[in-house]
Amino acid sequence: MKYEPVGSRGTLITFEPGDSPFSCPTSVYSTALRDRLLLCDTHVGPRSMEAILPRLRSACAAELMVFNTHYDFDHVWGNCAFPGAVIMAQSRCYETLASDVEWEAALRAYGHCAAGPVTRCLPNLVFDTRLSFPGDDVELLHTPGHTPDSSSLFDRRDGILFAADNLERPLPYLQTHLLDGYLETLERYRRLEPSAILTSHAGCVDRALIDATGDYVAAVAAGKALSFADDIAADRHGWNLKAVLLSRLESEARAELGAVFDLRAWHDGLAAALDQSLGDLERLAARLIAEWPPASGEPTPR
Ligand SMILES: [Zn+2]
Repeated sequence: MKYEPVGSRGTLITFEPGDSPFSCPTSVYSTALRDRLLLCDTHVGPRSMEAILPRLRSACAAELMVFNTHYDFDHVWGNCAFPGAVIMAQSRCYETLASDVEWEAALRAYGHCAAGPVTRCLPNLVFDTRLSFPGDDVELLHTPGHTPDSSSLFDRRDGILFAADNLERPLPYLQTHLLDGYLETLERYRRLEPSAILTSHAGCVDRALIDATGDYVAAVAAGKALSFADDIAADRHGWNLKAVLLSRLESEARAELGAVFDLRAWHDGLAAALDQSLGDLERLAARLIAEWPPASGEPTPR
């Protein structure tokens, strides 16, 4: 783990490859308020948190409160290391984590990355647009982008923005089709005029990454064809196009099917087509909606 002091009261703690079964460098951020310690995100499991807790505790004996920046596994699976603690999150984060279908899907896909036994420990203090600690000049802001629930911490006193996964190199992961909200969030970041910008997977970044991210998100939103010389960027862009399409199709299915929409059946129905082309996915989704409900035992109509 790498510990980097930030401003007058923050510490960026980065789990590096080898520190846990999750090989992607990932940071959590702690900030010492007057009478509490605020920890942003809990990495991939309780062992990660047990590894940093003695040092956090020695720096500040006050009450520890957790803030989940969004529902992804690498930000919430360590929540179970803090039984009884206040765990704050945007309301959509709570709803996603509370969904059995979503929780099981994350465990299936990323269970091999868990650090220690993960049990579901949900946020217990939720907010819609913002949550303030006025005496400490700290705010938690709903900043949709990478995911619909994505939220950020802004420390007004030190000018520090913890943007979590909304800013990442070489490109962000897009997990929603609601890209206008992402662009509004980036504009809001600019208006905050942060003196330091921290992220979950790219460390400390400069303001130019806000602009570069905005250019990319706007191009995807406009349906522009993009190509990348860098393999990582090219792969991520391909992944993003599929994720954006899947998000849009799910939202259309929910609107079309109303009360009979079922997330588990929807996931099962699309599962076999996930490695096919965007056009095939779109055609299969249209057929799934037209023939809803899918016949049980035949989750992938051809
Ligand atoms: Zn992440």
